[in-house]
Amino acid sequence: LNLTDVSPLQFAVTPNPAPKSDTERAEILAAPGFGQFFTDHMVQIHWSERGGWHRAAVEPYGKISLDPAAAVLHYAQEIFEGLKAYRHADGSIWSFRPDQNALRFQRSARRLALPELPTQVFLDSLTKLVTQDAAWVHEGGETSLYLRPFMFASEAFLGVRAARKVYFFVIASPAGSYFKGGVQPVSIWLSTDYARAAHGGTGAAKTGGNYAASLLPQQEAYEHGCDQVLFLQDGQLEELGGMNLVLVTKDGTLVTPESDSILEGITRDSLMQLAADRGHAVERRAVSLAEWRDGAASGDIVEAFACGTAAVVNPIARFKSKDFTIELPEIPAEQSLAMSLRRELTDIQYGRAEDAHNWLYRV
Ligand code: PMP
Repeated sequence: LNLTDVSPLQFAVTPNPAPKSDTERAEILAAPGFGQFFTDHMVQIHWSERGGWHRAAVEPYGKISLDPAAAVLHYAQEIFEGLKAYRHADGSIWSFRPDQNALRFQRSARRLALPELPTQVFLDSLTKLVTQDAAWVHEGGETSLYLRPFMFASEAFLGVRAARKVYFFVIASPAGSYFKGGVQPVSIWLSTDYARAAHGGTGAAKTGGNYAASLLPQQEAYEHGCDQVLFLQDGQLEELGGMNLVLVTKDGTLVTPESDSILEGITRDSLMQLAADRGHAVERRAVSLAEWRDGAASGDIVEAFACGTAAVVNPIARFKSKDFTIELPEIPAEQSLAMSLRRELTDIQYGRAEDAHNWLYRV
């Protein structure tokens, strides 16, 4: 970790006077779903042009009050991150490559003209919150505590310029096993009428507007019996609404789209590294829809999967568009490279395998 930007921010800790009872928490942890329930605390830090980062606090989770003129509500000057905390068998709690989330948060901040939160403050904010809410990190299966850092323009001003007042928060939400009845391969809708991002736009930043732009095409995907939507740009494959895309060719090469308008996923990067460690070739390059259609038809492309923090790896069964459907061959989970990489990665995350790349960070 590069911690040259260490900042001495002190967090004031105010314990929640009315946390959820042990019974209530146990009920939630038994069936948390995703993103529905929140822990007892949150982190809040303010930034102003004049005062820099200040007022760092761990405080009771609760409503926030904003001026109706807060710039975020009008011009969407906002960024966020998503990562998880995992409990290991010995009780310790770890997050996975949070320094990479910190760096991506800084890149997103630059693109959205927001202040860059120092890496050490980002990491400290996670540690403080997880320490306070450790009882919410349950053990067993593929359960975890999803952490959601976010930052937005809080200044009350309707002029269109970078805000001079910004809020940073971290909230946490227990997450259950993504796949309950075993892994379900998904159907993907190729969106040809809508784009998620453009060259020179904000596609590589984790900012709310990209997700807002993906909602209508996502509805279109549902209407066509698909689970998720894949975005294209200039005939090139990009990514899904909330996951990256990886293709596997019959010689075991992993190919993933490279573009300046997709989010650089940390899961994807880790899976590509694990595959490279096993001796697989990995390619990050432009992938055209034509290459992909031909490859799937000729049997050159044998697997496709989506990957991201939430599901880790989601095998893809078919791609549908207005004009055609491409079915990928059905392969048993034990022969799937995607599933084997998924297993290797989750074994590292849950402390069941050696962390050879030093990816885990104790929180
Ligand atoms: N692309 C998009 C648009 C996403 O929202 C995500 C989830 N953060 C990803 C890719 C995967 O990124 P990661 O592996 O870092 O979760």
